[in-house]
Amino acid sequence: MSPIIIGAVAGGVGVLVVGVLMPARKCPGCAARLPKFRRPANKRQAMWGGTTCPACGCESDRKGNKIS
Ligand SMILES: [Zn+2]
Repeated sequence: MSPIIIGAVAGGVGVLVVGVLMPARKCPGCAARLPKFRRPANKRQAMWGGTTCPACGCESDRKGNKIS
């Protein structure tokens, strides 16, 4: 097997594991699918988790509840 194929397989397994650990969530504001890999937009998100929707900009906490 070439290194490229091995890398693709390892990457696929990694995505699968992350997908199981972090199920896909939807934006509470517009129901867009939120990215699994997020970059904390502020200190609270870095500490407590949470996501800013890339589509509508609404914030949700780590449980997927909308933050007003
Ligand atoms: Zn949204």
